[in-house]
Amino acid sequence: MAANEKDQPTSSQVPSPQEWAASKRWNPFNSYKLLSHVHRWRQIRRGKPIPPPVLITVDPTNACNFGCAWCNAAFVRTHRKGSLSEQALMNIADFLPRWGEGNTVWKPGVEAICVAGGGEPLLNPATAPFIDRVIANGVEVGVVTNGSLIYPVMDSLSHCTWVGVSVDAGTPETLNKLKELKPELNTFETIVNNIATLVDYARRHNHRLGSKHPAYGVSYKYLLYKDNIGEIYQAAKLAKEIGCKNIHFRPAGTTWDNVGNSTNTIKFTQEDIQLFNEQISKTLELDDETFNVYGITHKFNSQFDASNHFQKCYAVFMTAVIMPPLGKAADKDAFTLGLCCDRRGDAKLELGSNLTDVNQINRLWGSEDHWKIHDRIKIRGECPRCTYQPHNEIYEQVILNDSMTYKFI
Ligand code: SF4
Repeated sequence: MAANEKDQPTSSQVPSPQEWAASKRWNPFNSYKLLSHVHRWRQIRRGKPIPPPVLITVDPTNACNFGCAWCNAAFVRTHRKGSLSEQALMNIADFLPRWGEGNTVWKPGVEAICVAGGGEPLLNPATAPFIDRVIANGVEVGVVTNGSLIYPVMDSLSHCTWVGVSVDAGTPETLNKLKELKPELNTFETIVNNIATLVDYARRHNHRLGSKHPAYGVSYKYLLYKDNIGEIYQAAKLAKEIGCKNIHFRPAGTTWDNVGNSTNTIKFTQEDIQLFNEQISKTLELDDETFNVYGITHKFNSQFDASNHFQKCYAVFMTAVIMPPLGKAADKDAFTLGLCCDRRGDAKLELGSNLTDVNQINRLWGSEDHWKIHDRIKIRGECPRCTYQPHNEIYEQVILNDSMTYKFI
């Protein structure tokens, strides 16, 4: 099961000091946090009950009001238009603490969810009541949004652990260009005002999002693309001014449906990488006790490309994605259970399509069908740059190979 020597991680994959200030090592974007789940994940064994995922993603809708150049959900937005109904979302919210019930190897319950897309989650009017219900059920929530629709759902968002606003630009011109927005809509201004208002609201009401905790709060998200690298410092300055807890940079990647298609591959030149390094060095000067700068590179190779150094995908047993149902004929309260947020819309990664009863999840999770999906995944040739690369490496290296002799602490 050991990875080939040529596949071993290179030094470029080791978290470099440039990713964050030395004193900020214990932060939400440090993949070493996954090691805290080794005891859960070592229960992932064929023929045995599988622990519930600690975190799942829920996509309330595949619709979006933006047209991002790099959209990793363009496939579902085009081919799988649809949303989860309010009833479906409430059923899911109430099921989360029961995921894994009856399983004797691990206590039941998903512990956190990421509300994302698909499309823009706040386009679904049921998303705010869904967030309220999930939090009332004792499950933590993080939300990824484009920031344009925050205002009406401010209170629900203020109870989340984090809200990541995908701004990806430091100026209105770049935002409009990269996201196909009409300049007269002044969307950049709307997003900036929404963030500032949300931060202020959460602080004044002493809600979780506004707490002094260094890792909770609003994150200014910035996907690196060829046209926005020069604005990194400007964006970080703005993020700090409007009260974001951090700014998080990450390179955009090629989508699963474009793997092997050289025309639609996202590539960075040496000049892009050089510019990124210069900008991030300068931006780290803004890092202090109130504001954190995270330039994440340890998940990628030195060209910001795929770094999938593992042989099999075990991440499909660690997390899941609940998505809108497929096709017009589906029951209106149905949902689809997917296993990989990097391959949204790929039927090969769906454990259940158009499910109507949330309790079916407990029958499917860890089933023979689940293992068949794992067996059929062709990482090389099918998978894009894997978000769960550290999860998979830890399963193979730490759990299967015991490369760290992890019991010897
Ligand atoms: S991208 Fe591939 S390897 Fe990564 S989690 Fe998805 S299916 Fe697994």
